[in-house]
Amino acid sequence: MEGRCNCGAVRFIIHGQLPAMYQCHCTLCRRQGGAGSNAATIVELEAFSWKQGQEAINTWTKASGFNAHFCSNCGSPVPNPLGDRYMWIPVGLLEESDRGDTRIVAQLWLDAKAHWDQPPESLRNYPAMPEDLEEFIHFLHQPQD
Ligand SMILES: [Zn+2]
Ligand SMILES: [Zn+2]
Repeated sequence: MEGRCNCGAVRFIIHGQLPAMYQCHCTLCRRQGGAGSNAATIVELEAFSWKQGQEAINTWTKASGFNAHFCSNCGSPVPNPLGDRYMWIPVGLLEESDRGDTRIVAQLWLDAKAHWDQPPESLRNYPAMPEDLEEFIHFLHQPQD
């Protein structure tokens, strides 16, 4: 499965099955995307490769550790490393022509959501970050019905 930024400078490939996705409603993710939440997933490093454009990526790091990686040409958020084993993937960049059957299964940071946002209540919902990130990543990688 392939993904790209708006201008096409940054391109990447996800190998194998795409894990389930989540949305984060924290204020940082909201501002980063200019929306009520983002939509993302987390893949193992071995399942990810850059196709082109790593030199076009710019970064912003907040003192708290929040990391934003984005195309310096068009501003699209782009994948970035999560620890030393995973890549964070903004799933809006994925080509819809490679459609799989994965979907959004969890919502993070609902305590910080915008008052006008109405996320579904039927998903696995968290008031903030999952306390056990490894367990959460494992959950995203479970086969779905
Ligand atoms: Zn771009
Ligand atoms: Zn967030």
